[in-house]
Amino acid sequence: MDRDFRELPLIPLRGITIFPYMVLHFDVGREKSILALEKAMLEEQKVFLTAQRQAKTEEPGREDIFKTGTICNIKQILKLPGDTVRVLVEGETRALLKEYISEEPFFKVKVEVLEDEENYDENKDCEALVRAIKKNFNEYVKLSGNIPAETIITLDEIDNHGRLADTISSYLMLKQEKKQELLECYEIEERLQKVLAVLANEIEILKLERKIGVKVKNKIDKVQKDYYLREQLKAIQEELGEDDDNKKEMKRYKNKISKAKLPKAVKDKALYELDRLKNTGSYSAEGGVIRTYLDWILELPWNTQTKDNLDIKSAREILEKEHYGLKDVKDRIIEYLSVKKMSKSLKGPILCLMGPPGVGKTSIAKSIAHALNRNFVRMSLGGVRDEAEIRGHRKTYVGAIPGRIIYGMKQAKSKNPLFLLDEIDKMSNDFRGDPADALLEVLDSEQNNSFRDHYMELDFDLSNVMFITTANSIGNIPRPLFDRMEVIEVSGYTSEEKFHICREYLIPKQLEENGIKNNEIIISDSSIYKLIDNYTRESGVRSLERRIASVIRKAVAEMMEKDKKKVNITLTKIKSYFGAEIYTYDKIDKEDKIGVVMGMAWTGYGGDTLPIEATAMSGNGKLELTGQLGAVMKESAKAGYSYIRANADKYGVESDFYKKYDLHIHVPEGAVPKDGPSAGVAMVTAMISALSKKKVKHNVAMTGEITLTGRVLPIGGLKEKSLAAYRAGIDTVIIPKDNEKHLLKIPNTVKNKLNYILADNIDVVLENSISNYS
Ligand code: ADP
Repeated sequence: MDRDFRELPLIPLRGITIFPYMVLHFDVGREKSILALEKAMLEEQKVFLTAQRQAKTEEPGREDIFKTGTICNIKQILKLPGDTVRVLVEGETRALLKEYISEEPFFKVKVEVLEDEENYDENKDCEALVRAIKKNFNEYVKLSGNIPAETIITLDEIDNHGRLADTISSYLMLKQEKKQELLECYEIEERLQKVLAVLANEIEILKLERKIGVKVKNKIDKVQKDYYLREQLKAIQEELGEDDDNKKEMKRYKNKISKAKLPKAVKDKALYELDRLKNTGSYSAEGGVIRTYLDWILELPWNTQTKDNLDIKSAREILEKEHYGLKDVKDRIIEYLSVKKMSKSLKGPILCLMGPPGVGKTSIAKSIAHALNRNFVRMSLGGVRDEAEIRGHRKTYVGAIPGRIIYGMKQAKSKNPLFLLDEIDKMSNDFRGDPADALLEVLDSEQNNSFRDHYMELDFDLSNVMFITTANSIGNIPRPLFDRMEVIEVSGYTSEEKFHICREYLIPKQLEENGIKNNEIIISDSSIYKLIDNYTRESGVRSLERRIASVIRKAVAEMMEKDKKKVNITLTKIKSYFGAEIYTYDKIDKEDKIGVVMGMAWTGYGGDTLPIEATAMSGNGKLELTGQLGAVMKESAKAGYSYIRANADKYGVESDFYKKYDLHIHVPEGAVPKDGPSAGVAMVTAMISALSKKKVKHNVAMTGEITLTGRVLPIGGLKEKSLAAYRAGIDTVIIPKDNEKHLLKIPNTVKNKLNYILADNIDVVLENSISNYS
């Protein structure tokens, strides 16, 4: 075969490899290349194009340029702005650079034309290879996604194997070295094999890329999916008009927030939560929680307050008008108001109204609120065991709500109400924290201007609240709380007091509640006393009030049924309404007796007389105690017994009585269990009377604790006990000397009837109670 050499201008290409049959345009900017191009145009419009080894080399020399390249026909030249020329070329044949003829002003080279072999048989040789290549190329086109599908059709029409290999090579996205390698395959079969190998490799890579791509895409997809769903939800809500609702709701809240006079921190929090609500969507569970919280914020009286009535005279009038008696409480409130008027400050101890049930603690507190012109809220602490009940649960709890203090403030509707903490002595504690600790903070005027509820997470100012507490007895009030309180005792009422309360307050109140005019039902005074003495037994007037209500209802029914205009309630009516007397009181014996002493007891229901009996019988010194006696009372009996043994001579008792006699003390049960040390003196008196066979005066009652040395110690509930003695018709009452100061509190009606004897030791008691004592 003749070898064909040609002399042509050379243009080195950067990053491009051009194959025969390939049509391509590229820009030429280097001066040397432009000159080469111009030369080519002047001659046969052919140029030898070959790649430079490194695309970045600016001025390539011989060694920087590949030797194998392609002779191309120049099809078109286009001048671009700024000395650049765009050239359109078509590859013609491979050629190998043999010699540089000149290098300046442009490369001129001698190349050997490398035509494909002539004796290659298209039909036989490498058919299998070609098929495999076509199949692979199909797949490659699919996978790569950036080769037009028509290419495949074009390729089908090519039956020249060499040309096919070159055309495919020109489509492949390969690195330059790889392309150069393909270009340097002069043998058709070798070229085909290489193309197939490259194709297979590329397909693998593309598949791998796709796999990775899918994974990455999956990840991105999830985010996109969520976004998409959310957008869809929005669209659905919009369709359903919910979005509108939502917007309206936002607007409503916003309005409310700006109208409510909230402190800055509270307002910021409210707006923050509103913003959260906007993003959560109002139909989600979270939305519900936020909404409830916002409602709480908006309903609390952060800045609303009532104006105090500082008119002392009108306050006094209100207090007097609404309650009978209770002088101490009323005086203390007037004092409090006066101080406030002078100093404009409300600091000071918390008032604690202490007394048995039904004596009007709650209702006087209500009256105080009325007199002060403050709103009133009441919260019972009975049975509160958990700190969270006072201070609330954190919002993260399901169904969390604020504690009772904040709840009460919401009910109060002003930030300066009168807040009644009822039954503070009935609070207890367990593992969930001590509610008393939380209450301490509430009641402490130094701290309570920033009370923080767990649910609200905002400071609430309680410093303007007037707290009043109530208790039945002070013994059970937690000590630190007790230290902050000023106790005002509200003791039980005498029958006379109850009578007044009943006639002047309870009856008019009940008549009014039942819509009856004053003169339509008239309850006689003796009926009122009957109800007080024989149908109720209590320190307060709660049952009495219920009885009155019942009397009035029955009377109304009678008026209706029998068409009467008026009903008079008399003793017989009371009996017909309620049956026989329910409670009777011990009346004193008519005569003095041995071993029978009238003691006095004080229970939650008020005072009562307590007859104590003792008897001595031959035996060997046993002391028997019967009746419903508590442990303290039993011990007290034993102490008295020992005292008598030690001082037998003094009282005309045989000194070895404890060897010869058994003693039995009995306290008749009565309705209520009794306990406490205050029956001590009565039991000693009964025992001495029984042992010495001297009678006890029947008109004397006594109370007092006894010690082993015979001293008489003070007792509680003097007023109630005195009332009981008075009711029973006693005329002399022996009380411990240390209780003298309490006599002041005894109503005059009682004091005038009773002769009080003060005893500091048992001798005084015996002198005054045992007849013919000497
Ligand atoms: P407490 O709180 O001490 O248990 P309440 O305040 O519930 O007692 O009183 C029971 C009822 O007795 C109320 O209707 C109250 O108005 C009435 N009451 C009690 N004491 C008086 C009083 N001194 N004057 C008028 N009403 C009274």
